Amino acid sequence: MSKETSTPRYLCQRCGNCCRWPGDVRITDAEVSRIAAFLGMTEEAFTAGCTRLNANRTGLSIIDKPNGECLFLEGVNVCRIQPVKPAQCSGFPNEWRFPGWRDVCEAVETG
Ligand code: SF4
Ligand code: SF4
Repeated sequence: MSKETSTPRYLCQRCGNCCRWPGDVRITDAEVSRIAAFLGMTEEAFTAGCTRLNANRTGLSIIDKPNGECLFLEGVNVCRIQPVKPAQCSGFPNEWRFPGWRDVCEAVETG
């Protein structure tokens, strides 16, 4: 396989900037169950208190704080649900990216 045609991989530097990026942090039903259990909450309480309908009303997203950052961001770069964070979070920026992502993401290209 040619090196030139391989897709670059990015190594997260844990800057926390993607957690401050406004927009949907989508969660699946399975993620609702996992996160609620991790937080010691019922799924009903978690859904009511920590989620909202996503922008296109097709599912749930984690609530944003008034300043636009994710409800579960603590300080600059600590995720309070790190062991069970949604696939959307763990997949960025290698599995998906948003327009302009390179301007905010400090991940290092590893080749
Ligand atoms: S769930 Fe965690 S990793 Fe995902 S946006 Fe929120 S704070 Fe960041
Ligand atoms: S913006 Fe990029 S480098 Fe910063 S925490 Fe998110 S994925 Fe990691």
